[in-house]
Amino acid sequence: MIISRPRIVLSKCLEHEACRYNGEMIRSAFVRTLMKHADFIPVCPEEAIGLGIPRDPIRIESAGGAQRLYQMSSATDLTDRMKRFSRNYLRGLKKIDGFIFKSRSPSCGVIDAKLFESGAEGKVIGKTAGLFAAAAVTRFPCIPVEDEERLTNRYLRDNFLRKLFLLAEWRKIHEKGGMRDIIIFQTKHKLTLMVFSKTQLQKMETLVASQAGLRLTEIKNRYRELLCRALTGMPRYKSTLTVLLQVADGFSGLLTTKEKTAFPDAMERYRRREIPLSVPVNMIHSRLKRFGEGYLHGQSIFNPYPHELMYPNGSEKRYRLE
Ligand code: SF4
Repeated sequence: MIISRPRIVLSKCLEHEACRYNGEMIRSAFVRTLMKHADFIPVCPEEAIGLGIPRDPIRIESAGGAQRLYQMSSATDLTDRMKRFSRNYLRGLKKIDGFIFKSRSPSCGVIDAKLFESGAEGKVIGKTAGLFAAAAVTRFPCIPVEDEERLTNRYLRDNFLRKLFLLAEWRKIHEKGGMRDIIIFQTKHKLTLMVFSKTQLQKMETLVASQAGLRLTEIKNRYRELLCRALTGMPRYKSTLTVLLQVADGFSGLLTTKEKTAFPDAMERYRRREIPLSVPVNMIHSRLKRFGEGYLHGQSIFNPYPHELMYPNGSEKRYRLE
């Protein structure tokens, strides 16, 4: 199966340059592994707005209901500079499929930058998104965004990678594919889209079947919109269970008793978000390979991204998953 090569905007301090405030670089086993399968566009927003390396730390403060980016040591408000840079940089971005940011950074953190009260004595009052990351999420609501720490969690990583590689493939079709390519794409990703959103999949199928008197460009634009909606959030547990049980049903008579109990056990652990979708899916996939089900074997749900990325080196972490 051909897997497209995604393009990812990445915080430059992750495996690319020692550009952190303290002159360090952050190591990430996952980013190193992903380098073989994706193209990175590294960026350091703090370097880009003229802060040197090393530099005094900056932080986000809450002031009058708004958030501002502030450097205590120089008493400099950097909010406008960072917002201007973010706007211009993101406006110029084309052909991207994902973002991987540095956790906890006041510029790049996706959800967990510290939020301070304003003033020299200001305490931490919560968590928020870094200014650059927040601007990226607003401008590209469809593109998967994660930070390097959350990506050490198998469940989150699997979800991120499924979306990333699917969108990278769609981008190629959007750029130069025809109607036939859209139909092939839809057939190949049918089960994947079903577990994310059956409703949106049905709309996509209707659009492709009817074409509604639209020109190809318009069909692609509408299809992309539906694809974005489908990929919002995590795969639905119930849809996943239904889809995989339907597939497993085809050869249940051929399984051993042990195999018949292993799958529900895996689904239960997946429901509790202890393991990623790829674990129960791979159980079904190994049966497909044994019993030879050609049509299903080509479905992307069984082979969504390079296998090496499923188990990169690095510790697994637990996060509270909403
Ligand atoms: S977290 Fe972002 S702003 Fe900070 S050093 Fe890394 S790339 Fe630069």
